[in-house]
Amino acid sequence: MPRVIQLLKAREAVEVVEIPSKNPGPHEVRLRIEACALGQLDWNLLTLDAPPRLPLVPGHEAVGVVEAVGANCTLRMGERVLVTPLASSCGTCNACRGRDARHCGGASWRGMHVDGALGTHLVTHEKTLVPLELPLGVEPLAEVLAPQLAGALALSGGSLWTAVGAVNALGLVHPSRVAVFGVGGVGHLAVQVAKALGHEVFAADADPERVTLAGALGAKPLDGPVDAAVVCTPSTQALQQAVRLLRAGGRIALAGSSPTGRIDLSVADLVWRGLTIRSGLLGTREDLEEGVGLLFSGKVKPSIELVTLDEVPARLWALRDLGFPGRMVVLPG
Ligand SMILES: [Zn+2]
Repeated sequence: MPRVIQLLKAREAVEVVEIPSKNPGPHEVRLRIEACALGQLDWNLLTLDAPPRLPLVPGHEAVGVVEAVGANCTLRMGERVLVTPLASSCGTCNACRGRDARHCGGASWRGMHVDGALGTHLVTHEKTLVPLELPLGVEPLAEVLAPQLAGALALSGGSLWTAVGAVNALGLVHPSRVAVFGVGGVGHLAVQVAKALGHEVFAADADPERVTLAGALGAKPLDGPVDAAVVCTPSTQALQQAVRLLRAGGRIALAGSSPTGRIDLSVADLVWRGLTIRSGLLGTREDLEEGVGLLFSGKVKPSIELVTLDEVPARLWALRDLGFPGRMVVLPG
């Protein structure tokens, strides 16, 4: 029987639950999940007074292998795919028609509006999955991924995608001074992505352990004005600090969110200094391919802690105080 992590009641602990095996319908596939990340966003959703749905299965970024296909599917048995956060979109709004479904107002998100991927199996529409195409020169993947590789790949469809999308959203055409605020799951990847793209990278975080991680990844402590900032935390203080540090015409990409986050900024700062704030949520399909390429080239090495499904209810608490350096990844197998 498939096993998943479920939140059954608001304000209670999650449990490992057995659920009936489901056959995929038309255009659906059933995946065997090899790895699924668990992060601050999941913690935020699981601890709301009124979670978006109950019971709720978290998990919005994962990697899995197709083990059953429904009618009219183009994905094949045995194919390895990335499970991305967007579970569906309306298909007709301006955002969807502009191939930018991540900003669709009618979108449903995995682990939020529909069940997420944190379990042994997931049945989902194949349109929401990204076949994992390997860069030229990379050996074909083994039948079963090595745990570290599975963990790293799980981040490609979410955290790494967002990190690449956010850095690219800055629109920098020359090597620049880039500050990363918040060195968690997305932030520690954004540091590496910005470095790989030739920028001088600075990092800030309230947690000294995370600053140490950023230093090991090649980021320097903040030491003056910067051209651009990736803010990977919903903290208004971090954003205010980014605004203060930016040079005129500077750009900010927001890559951290929380259901209750609010920002308080000086309008004069934004208007007179010509600052731009953009969303760094996920990215384009090209950003995703770039992220997978950076992973396989070794230029981005996710810092991950691997845990089993049975360890999740106890380990989830580690995320409470803004987590720990890197990302927790669950190996459900
Ligand atoms: Zn739409």
